[in-house]
Amino acid sequence: YIFCSSFFFPFLHTHTSVFMANFVSSIPKRLEGKVAIVTGGASGIGASTAALFHLHGARVVIADIQDDLGRALAHKLGNDAIYTHCDVTDEDQITHLVDSAVAELGHLDIMYSNAGVINGDDFQSILDADKEKIERILRVNLVGGLLVAKHAARVMVPNRKGCILFTASACTEVAGIAPYSYTASKFGIVGLTKGLAVEMGLHGIRVNCVSPFGVLTGSAAHDGKTADMFEKMMGHVGNLKGKILTAEDVAKAALYLASDEAAYVSGVNFVVDGGYSVVNPTLSNVRNAPR
Ligand code: NAD
Repeated sequence: YIFCSSFFFPFLHTHTSVFMANFVSSIPKRLEGKVAIVTGGASGIGASTAALFHLHGARVVIADIQDDLGRALAHKLGNDAIYTHCDVTDEDQITHLVDSAVAELGHLDIMYSNAGVINGDDFQSILDADKEKIERILRVNLVGGLLVAKHAARVMVPNRKGCILFTASACTEVAGIAPYSYTASKFGIVGLTKGLAVEMGLHGIRVNCVSPFGVLTGSAAHDGKTADMFEKMMGHVGNLKGKILTAEDVAKAALYLASDEAAYVSGVNFVVDGGYSVVNPTLSNVRNAPR
């Protein structure tokens, strides 16, 4: 039912929209009354999640460095969605993000630390590792996530409730599918998730991460040729046939972890990969090959 929003189907005719609006208003709202911040919320997984959280009744703060995209999404979502510029490598900006969200919306229930950079070292050999590029990836993906969690905890601990969620990656479960520094940054996020689940558990705050397999996001998602190539490749390598992972699928996993349905779930690396990381296809490929 995420697809019912006009954000996803802006071309819907008016009568269809009215029908959809009635339908949307009748779905159970799984985040009613909650306030959520989504970092990296202007694009890809973050944008889909911000839209889904909003559809489920949350008041949402979209935080990103792509101001035009972030503002456009907040505008599209309408009431109860705001955009705040926040570079997660800058602690002052994170402080401002959290404090302004609490000042404007009253409290903070869900912090989804999702901002991340994917490119950088592009499957280079370790022999060609570039210190600057490694530090950039770690600064955004890992240190950024840690600082975002620090400031979420600062306002959640006094309330003795809340949910901190990260985006890690399926590369934390199976080797060789992502570059070294990116993989290291995401293993760091899983470590952070587990460590924080211990300290935050004392305060009734849950901490989890969602770990997606490959999803076509960013500007590549708007290029038809790349999308076709991506779909073919993922259809071929993916374990779960007949389905390609989308940002909306990841958003649904995030929605579960952020909602009260996951009230006793903490410290979990929630892998969304259609079983890819638990399968070694070498034998089954031979068995299933045409004879
Ligand atoms: P995306 O590029 O569409 O979205 C990432 C967003 O993060 C962008 O809007 C970008 O502007 C923002 N961002 C980057 N640096 C930032 C910073 N310093 N401060 C604030 N915002 C910043 O890509 P995506 O695939 O939606 O990525 C979202 C998360 O999912 C990332 O953490 C990524 O590592 C993770 N992930 C993606 C995939 C995939 O295949 N797409 C797989 C596993 C994990």
